[in-house]
Amino acid sequence: MPSDKITIERIALLHPKLRDEALAIYDEIVQALGNHSMCRYTATLRTFAEQDKLYAQGRTTKGSKVTNARGGQSYHNYGLALDIVLVLDKDKNGLYESAVWDVRGDFDRDGRADWMEIVNIFKQYGWEWGGDWKFYDAPHFQKTFGYSVRQLLDLHNKGKVDKNGYVLI
Ligand SMILES: [Zn+2]
Repeated sequence: MPSDKITIERIALLHPKLRDEALAIYDEIVQALGNHSMCRYTATLRTFAEQDKLYAQGRTTKGSKVTNARGGQSYHNYGLALDIVLVLDKDKNGLYESAVWDVRGDFDRDGRADWMEIVNIFKQYGWEWGGDWKFYDAPHFQKTFGYSVRQLLDLHNKGKVDKNGYVLI
């Protein structure tokens, strides 16, 4: 069973309430996909400063716009969201070297798109998928526990956080 070091490291940055679950989900994904493709969690926690930098892209710095959220306005800023990518071992040398954002590819040839297999697993655990939104964001998943980002920012600003800075929810 492939275990992806990057993914494991990024799970450790999620909000403490989501870490075990994100790992359980990851295990299920690995089982569902087999050895043909692998899922990687590319981004989990993003600091407010990192978010502001991303927001500036396409506005005050070069590149194209990638987000409408400033620091504090994204669930990533609270460790309550993650982004994924599929990685493939195209040359069959045991290394997953090619990243794909293909929601339709059926790389394990089981008649179901790998990306949608992943979506279904997250949904079974009550996560929302960015692919269901008008602002389509296929790599994005989040679990908010009913909190708006405004409420989370409020908790953050009032110092209602644990010793590592995660909001107390
Ligand atoms: Zn995201």
